[in-house]
Amino acid sequence: MINFEYARADEVADAVRLVAGDPGAKFVAGGTNLIDLMKMDVERPAKVIDINRLPLKRIEITPEGGLRIGALVRNTDLAYHPLVEQHYPVLASAIMAGASQQLRNMASTGGNLLQRTRCHYFYDTVTPCNKREPGSGCSAINGHNRMHAILGASEECIAVHPSDMCVALAMLEAKVHVTGASGDRVIAFADFHRLPGDTPQRDTNLEAGEIITAVELPAKGFAENYTYLKIRDRLSYAFALVSVAAGLQLDGETIKEARFALGGVAHKPWRDPQAEAALNGQPANEATFARAADVLLRDARGYAHNSFKNDLARRCLLRALMQAAHGTPQLQSSKKIM
Ligand SMILES: Cc1cc2nc3c(=O)[nH]c(=O)nc-3n(C[C@H](O)[C@H](O)[C@H](O)COP(=O)(O)OP(=O)(O)OC[C@H]3O[C@@H](n4cnc5c(N)ncnc54)[C@H](O)[C@@H]3O)c2cc1C
Ligand code: SF4
Repeated sequence: MINFEYARADEVADAVRLVAGDPGAKFVAGGTNLIDLMKMDVERPAKVIDINRLPLKRIEITPEGGLRIGALVRNTDLAYHPLVEQHYPVLASAIMAGASQQLRNMASTGGNLLQRTRCHYFYDTVTPCNKREPGSGCSAINGHNRMHAILGASEECIAVHPSDMCVALAMLEAKVHVTGASGDRVIAFADFHRLPGDTPQRDTNLEAGEIITAVELPAKGFAENYTYLKIRDRLSYAFALVSVAAGLQLDGETIKEARFALGGVAHKPWRDPQAEAALNGQPANEATFARAADVLLRDARGYAHNSFKNDLARRCLLRALMQAAHGTPQLQSSKKIM
């Protein structure tokens, strides 16, 4: 048993004060990732700050016509919120494709962004892992790497980000509101998560002591032509091998604007502006989508056990875009099951 201090914050300012200058402190929200990591001896916080009483549980319409989602809104409440179901169905679908109902009931919006990779070596403390112990090496590069990255990896780490929700947030171009001892700031979603480079221990650009207060969605939700497609080993309760969040704005059969992001392929939800640009102004058909896939996968690199992901990512992208073009999403958030 490793001892740790427990503190509870009632206001955001308390949470910021409690964490300030204490590199061994961690916030806990739903606890569905942090507590597992503590039990497995991967995370050893000296202090755990419970943020569940903070007033960050509301979903509000912004003056720009978007949505501001408090960091403590539970994944279930977000997926079933009428404004999300109506205006951002790709987000509702992505959330419902993740974890299990019980986990979604606990998991928070902020915690989902900060969940850590599911690379099994990261959880296995007897094996080298640069993310867990910088400089120790990467067991996955020459080990079992079936779930790992094909885009944006480095010699230091080939892990992927495991979230479904974040793939939809990347495609929707959400913003992350954070606050810390030096004040508030807003981070574009594309800049929130990091590629591994030579600092794989850092998953995000959140600074030490900063807390996520909200995630903001812009007004545009691609609610007509969208899809969240997730390919995994089981039909439920499994992380993505490859996933795609896609949204199209169509003018007849011509694409006015295309957005897509991929999960399960990189250290962060993967957007590629060049591949998206290959779709704009083009007819919404398989030939166009295949050209975008060529651009997307131009630098893809597989390892011993995950080369199949190159072809899988191509097929997933094509299917997701075809479904979006036909307005037939893969998975709709369905009846509420508690
Ligand atoms: C068995 C299992 C299967 C799963 N399957 C999926 C899946 O298929 N798809 C998927 O997307 N997810 C999946 N998940 C992951 C789950 O969605 C995450 O564990 C959850 O979203 C984390 O949220 P939380 O509130 O419980 O975070 P916590 O565990 O409380 O915290 C996670 C991290 O975030 C930090 N943190 C939390 N809130 C804040 C904040 N507001 N500001 C700053 N730091 C904060 C904590 O310090 C900690 O480092 C699965 C989890 C489990 C256990
Ligand atoms: S891929 Fe990343 S998380 Fe996995 S063993 Fe290598 S360094 Fe660790």
